[in-house]
Amino acid sequence: MLRALELRKDFGGLTVLHPVSVDFRPGEVHALMGENGAGKSTLMKVLAGLYRPDGGHIEWRGVHADFASPHDALVAGIAMIHQELMPIPDLTVAENITLGSEPCSSFGRVDRAAQLARAQELLGELEADIDPARLMRTLTVAQMQVVEIAKALGRNADVILMDEPTAALSDQEVAALFRAIARLKARGVAIVYTTHKMDEVFRLADRISVLRDGSLVGTAPASEMNPAKLITMMVGRELADIFPVRQPPTDELLLEVSDLTHEPAYRDVSFQIQRGEVVALAGLMGAGRTEVVSAIYGLQPASSGRISFHSRTLSILSPQDALAAGIGMVTEDRKGLGLIPALGVGQNITLTALRDLSNGPLLNHRAEAAAVNSRMTEFAVKASSRAQPIAQLSGGNQQKALLARCLLGNPDLIILDEPTRGIDIGAKAEIYALIQKLARAGKGILLVSSELPEVLSLAHRIVVLRRGSVSATLDAASTDQETVLRHSMPL
Ligand code: ADP
Ligand code: MG
Repeated sequence: MLRALELRKDFGGLTVLHPVSVDFRPGEVHALMGENGAGKSTLMKVLAGLYRPDGGHIEWRGVHADFASPHDALVAGIAMIHQELMPIPDLTVAENITLGSEPCSSFGRVDRAAQLARAQELLGELEADIDPARLMRTLTVAQMQVVEIAKALGRNADVILMDEPTAALSDQEVAALFRAIARLKARGVAIVYTTHKMDEVFRLADRISVLRDGSLVGTAPASEMNPAKLITMMVGRELADIFPVRQPPTDELLLEVSDLTHEPAYRDVSFQIQRGEVVALAGLMGAGRTEVVSAIYGLQPASSGRISFHSRTLSILSPQDALAAGIGMVTEDRKGLGLIPALGVGQNITLTALRDLSNGPLLNHRAEAAAVNSRMTEFAVKASSRAQPIAQLSGGNQQKALLARCLLGNPDLIILDEPTRGIDIGAKAEIYALIQKLARAGKGILLVSSELPEVLSLAHRIVVLRRGSVSATLDAASTDQETVLRHSMPL
């Protein structure tokens, strides 16, 4: 249906898409995979008429096509859901969804009732409970993303390019999107899909194409791929190099959690962490993982149970208590709880350690600069300088900066809640190496992660939560994805 023939794209003299040839078929979900910067969005934008190719061309239904604008591509039947959301905040949800294809009455005026009904229908396809009369600006990011998807569905396109559509969505919203994609497939629509989430690829894709550094590494049916092979194609390295070999933990007990309870989120949660041990909390979204680690870090204290650390019972009522005891945490929500977007990378790193870097009321700037520079090197935080606003960095570099900040206080236990969510595989590999380095240095690591390959390869032990209770404690070396999933699923 749609074919890229030797497509090339340059930006400012730099070729970011080397001649790429790939075809997209009706009724197929075609996943485009690759690290950040591999060229996935650029390829999609050329196909959607947003960028003109600097070489090669597009074939549409067997005919040479030359889209001068996204409008041209849309008229031909190609719609795109952009990675960067493009909502118009002062219009309503319905106006955003029908933008450019507003239903009109016989007098040529926009038919408001029909517009609302159409928006309602499209949101219904996504099982979304969003009032179409609301102003776009009042929506959450997840809701805006659902609206973007509804908008693309409404174009009745034959090809829908979806650039990381699930980045901000909850599990339920993702499930609804997948059901909508299945219906589109059945109607013969071609879907081109990018994501950072491995499990999504194998649930959705019929074929997978991999881009690396702007070149096509290969295209294969999903049935002939597996996560290890895919990752190797994406990064050009073997999986064994991504997950360094685990060292056995010491037998010195570091943390003991007994019967931790906070109804209705979780109850009677007990587990231990030795020095040098990585323990993963696995489970589905909503199983209580984040709530349990929040209790250990004092963000949301438990109502009963005991936390013993270095063989002493602790009363942790706030993150200050946790930090003072030697427990640090990097939260799941980088933007909300973690970083201050407008401040420089350096300031973000030293934010919580300013007291240690001060002489009385005065900040010791030289000490701060030295601390920051050594941390940025150690953690391979890539930025133009330590003054560069952290908001400008990639997710992976933001995450490394947050880890650097957490470690400035030299905690003995480090809690990491979804440390690799939404970051590319190269940065993931760096964070994995760091986690293992910390474990080798005798730290305890409590890891919350939804990515099972990560849990299985990094952790020594896996504590599975199901609806707020521990359903299993597994030795990671002798278990597998199936077993973890079986213990995660509601009975
Ligand atoms: P991906 O979607 O796979 O993460 P992109 O297609 O966004 O990758 O980017 C590919 C490369 O092109 C990157 O090196 C990026 O910095 C560069 N790039 C993307 N868009 C532009 C642009 N508008 N101007 C200059 N360079 C760009
Ligand atoms: Mg992209």
